[in-house]
Amino acid sequence: MEKIRMPVPIVEMDGDEMTRVIWADIKRLLLEPYIELNTEYYDLGLRHRDETGDSVTLEAAEAIKRLHVGVKCATITPNKQRVEEYGLHGLWKSPNATLRAALDGTVFRTPILTKVASPVVKTWKKPITIARHAYGDIYKATELRIPCAGRAELVFTGEDGKEKRELIYDFAGPGILQGMHNRDDSIVSFARASFAYALSLGQDLWFSCKDTISKQYDGEFRDIFQRVYDEEYRAEFEKAGITYFYTLIDDAVARVIRSEGGFVWALKNYDGDVMSDMVSTAYGSLAMMTSVLVSPDGNFEYEAAHGTVTRHWYRYQAGEKTSTNPVATIFAWSGALRKRAELDSNAPLASFADKLETATIGTIESGFMTKDLALIAEGAGAKVLNTTEFLEKIAEKL
Ligand code: NAP
Ligand code: MG
Repeated sequence: MEKIRMPVPIVEMDGDEMTRVIWADIKRLLLEPYIELNTEYYDLGLRHRDETGDSVTLEAAEAIKRLHVGVKCATITPNKQRVEEYGLHGLWKSPNATLRAALDGTVFRTPILTKVASPVVKTWKKPITIARHAYGDIYKATELRIPCAGRAELVFTGEDGKEKRELIYDFAGPGILQGMHNRDDSIVSFARASFAYALSLGQDLWFSCKDTISKQYDGEFRDIFQRVYDEEYRAEFEKAGITYFYTLIDDAVARVIRSEGGFVWALKNYDGDVMSDMVSTAYGSLAMMTSVLVSPDGNFEYEAAHGTVTRHWYRYQAGEKTSTNPVATIFAWSGALRKRAELDSNAPLASFADKLETATIGTIESGFMTKDLALIAEGAGAKVLNTTEFLEKIAEKL
């Protein structure tokens, strides 16, 4: 069989632990036999990040800006324990945070559905994609412990020296205080990425926040979304037959639970953090959740939403064959290959991406799966395979 050609490369970012093992297996068993795989390789494994003073992560981000498509393996975000375990020279930042900042991107998370495990929410028939604003609010807040009675004020000093001052609270005794911010340009990027991604999926976009209580702060988010929609996306949405709709977050939560799914739900940073965990759990498994970072200037970085599955890695190192679920990582590859195909009008590559996903879902639906899926599968007869056996089954189907 002649291999599918890929004239323009994608950015390949290797990672850590169990997912690094799975990464190599996916390439060997599911990609290289069929495609002249063309990637620019960056090793974001913790050792190599450490050796390069983490410059490799920034180089990978620059490569994504140049090639527009990347695929990333899960990576360790070091903490004190990892500094000892790996003998690191520094407490490197999360590669995902570095990539997000460099690409000014928004993260979209979508569950992968199969017939073997239905969502906890009975009405959900299609995936719900969550778009989380990845800048500011409580994640960049300044906090203060108030030790005694006193007055707290919000003070802004403009470049021109003019001051704006608002009373926060007159404390009669000890308490706590928090100051947070966001930026118009970041909210505009978030809105654009959300509209563009909903358009690329051909799905409705919802946005919700708490503008009834937070009239200026959340009200600004609501107004920016509406303005970006009216000025830049309304015509395209109408042409595509999809809608944008804003609603109060309380109302949105109720509607989401009663919905069929099949839309993109954009949320502020904290709401997105919490709701994405709820939605992914209700769909079944973190191992069945894909994630794509979309930048407003049209760059796409695909990955699995889970981490490096450290507990399995320690067992693997001890010689055990683990049943770690590779599905989200496979879908990261198929997503990146499909996007490459779309940008280059490469029909055979697009068709391969579809077939890879169909073969993966088909393998699970014919009863062959990893342990985590067997635990939530309905009906009897699930056959549990280790990771390599499962990948070989998919290859057979492919
Ligand atoms: P994790 O790797 O997602 O794993 C947490 C647990 O979830 C696992 O122990 C396993 O449960 C289950 N699990 C997750 N993915 C699975 C899969 N593909 N197949 C089967 N089970 C799966 O999270 P973590 O243990 O908190 O973090 C490990 C490392 O990953 C950390 O160093 C963290 O920094 C990093 N991380 C990276 C990313 C990223 O690169 N995007 C995201 C999150 C975390 P059982 O052990 O019960 O089977
Ligand atoms: Mg969370």
